Amino acid sequence: MSQIPIELKRQPSRGTGAPTPAPALPRDRPPTAPSYFHIMAKPTGPICNLDCEYCFFLSKDALYPGDRFRMSDELLEVYIRQLLESEQTPEVTIAWQGGEPTLMGVDFFERAVALAECYRQRGQRLQHTIQTNGTLLTDRWCELLREHNFLVGISIDGPPALHDTYRVDKRGNPTYDKVARGLALLQKHEVEFNVLCTVNAANDRYPLEVYRYFRDELGARYIQFIPIVERDNDTGFQEGDQVTDRSVDPVRWGAFLISVFEEWVRRDVGTVFVTTFDAALASWYGAAPGMCVFNETCGNALALEHNGDVYSCDHYVEPGYLLGNITETHLVELVASPRQRMFGEAKRDTLPRYCRECDVRFACHGECPKDRFTLTPDGEPGLNYLCAGYKSFFGHIDGPMRVMAYLLRQGRFADEIVGMFAAAGRNDRCPCGSGRKAKQCHQSPT
Ligand code: SF4
Ligand code: SF4
Repeated sequence: MSQIPIELKRQPSRGTGAPTPAPALPRDRPPTAPSYFHIMAKPTGPICNLDCEYCFFLSKDALYPGDRFRMSDELLEVYIRQLLESEQTPEVTIAWQGGEPTLMGVDFFERAVALAECYRQRGQRLQHTIQTNGTLLTDRWCELLREHNFLVGISIDGPPALHDTYRVDKRGNPTYDKVARGLALLQKHEVEFNVLCTVNAANDRYPLEVYRYFRDELGARYIQFIPIVERDNDTGFQEGDQVTDRSVDPVRWGAFLISVFEEWVRRDVGTVFVTTFDAALASWYGAAPGMCVFNETCGNALALEHNGDVYSCDHYVEPGYLLGNITETHLVELVASPRQRMFGEAKRDTLPRYCRECDVRFACHGECPKDRFTLTPDGEPGLNYLCAGYKSFFGHIDGPMRVMAYLLRQGRFADEIVGMFAAAGRNDRCPCGSGRKAKQCHQSPT
């Protein structure tokens, strides 16, 4: 049951104790404000109970020396109000991330949910999400998450030996068992979860082992793979393509996605959802991919720090990308600000010619600007470090993607492709359009 105090359910305090009056919604909505944007709120800033070796958040505590890194109740209220006032789509996502957001405790999130109900605009539906390492989950946590239909992202990098390579606690001890305990609690309480798996130097050679583990051992239906790309010099975004030993190799990243795709497209379309594949299908179909890294422009995925500071993106929590603070400027004005709009458009406007002329640009768009630090073959700066992987992956999936996009345009379902592959005669041409016999193409073992 919820522990929300009844008086808070009915009437949240408005601005109680806020050091300065929080700005109200501007009378005229800024014309450059997008109708929808996504913001990741980090109530503990970068603070986490684990010490994953590749985590780029942990070093961010240097931005706020001496800070306690806890979002106050007053700021929580200001944020929820401004967020719900700013969004114009029927469904609004309230997303929590860290660091480790569960360090705030269940009570904080009960207040967040209650405030969201109080400030919900007419016709708005709320989707609560939280990204967690899962190690601090309890029955009480799961009751809250279930009651309010949270979508929980849980970070797991594969079977225990692969997961524990980099995902360790402050003493360097493995964490898999604690994560598995948290996941079991989520399943016991029937909380919807997705697995967020980083692909790194430890697991990039084991795509099928990782994917099948999530699908068959953990029962995951929603899986997101995130490539680990860590700059070696640790000084930001200047040119130079040295990366740490933990980073995924670009060619292996492509091979990893291809291997998982080949398993998925033969048997799991419609039952397992892999965000990269869904985004690619949307691009082949002609719709928005739904992943900022594959959009032509960005700028609509921001980050909110524990003290109200808003940054252009979660990957750009850097002084040069600080847009302002929501206790001084309303969130919608920060999102609509010329600096943020230029940040988003730069993703398209700074593409090197090699990308502009690339056959798979429509699906890749040069991926995330944070990883554009290598040179094109003709020496132009700004090529994505992962380019080789994306070129081979998007090139490889063209045939099946065309088939699935065609099915969707016919008003049919993309998962029909699984039956098409199975039903083809072994010596028939493969339905993917490769020109090869089915037995040598999508009927061959993965
Ligand atoms: S910088 Fe990268 S992660 Fe951030 S919004 Fe743009 S594409 Fe997405
Ligand atoms: S595959 Fe490479 S060249 Fe093509 S758009 Fe992506 S990063 Fe650019």
